[in-house]
Amino acid sequence: MSSISDTIKQLRQELPSGVKLVAVSKFHPAEAIEEAYAAGQRVFGESRPQELYAKVQALPYTDIEWHFIGHLQTNKLKLVLPYAAMVESVDSLRLLEAIDRWSAENGRTTEVLLEYHIASEETKQGFSREEILSIVSGETRRFMNVRIRGLMGMATYTDDEKTVRSDFSKLMTLYSEIESLRDSGRCTEIGQDFNIRSFGMTHDYRIAVEMGADVVRIGTLIFGERVY
Ligand SMILES: *Cc1c(COP(=O)(O)O)cnc(C)c1O
Repeated sequence: MSSISDTIKQLRQELPSGVKLVAVSKFHPAEAIEEAYAAGQRVFGESRPQELYAKVQALPYTDIEWHFIGHLQTNKLKLVLPYAAMVESVDSLRLLEAIDRWSAENGRTTEVLLEYHIASEETKQGFSREEILSIVSGETRRFMNVRIRGLMGMATYTDDEKTVRSDFSKLMTLYSEIESLRDSGRCTEIGQDFNIRSFGMTHDYRIAVEMGADVVRIGTLIFGERVY
């Protein structure tokens, strides 16, 4: 009789097998994660460093794949990077450089996505197209301790499907552009493992899947409304 596990199961049936579901558990208690875990979910998304850290400490599982999806300040890296399999929300060069430095100092490589600003709201975070092209092509500098695995984006918050599709198609277009640059040898900062398109949330994940998302990040549908 658990709606969390029912929704997880429904989503698993609905999503194509190549699409990874990140269950966005931010603002929900560790017990909610346990319920999803019991239903077989292993990938969870958190957006606040302290909250991610607390949940890692509170939960006994070693096989959870944590994705960090929120705005990350460079002084909070140590709460996140030891635990997160991926930082999906790299939204500034300063942050990318700090992650690279922290990873070098700690003898590891961190997997990241570059957040692309595709929404019309100015308040949303993310790089411009030009910034992303300059990073992947190695014009800014070399990043020896990060793996840039793909792009992440959030569409404009609207019921207008045309706007959502147009936002998502910006991400798909830039992604293809980067793939062709890479295949012609012009992207020093990415390799064949640049292969992730993360877009689609509760209200637009069906459109996202239809348009080619590899990762969808779903919170409200699984865990209910967040109380901020
Ligand atoms: C909160 C959040 C989500 C999940 O949003 P829902 O609408 O609850 O599914 C997905 N991605 C990011 C980056 C978020 O911050």
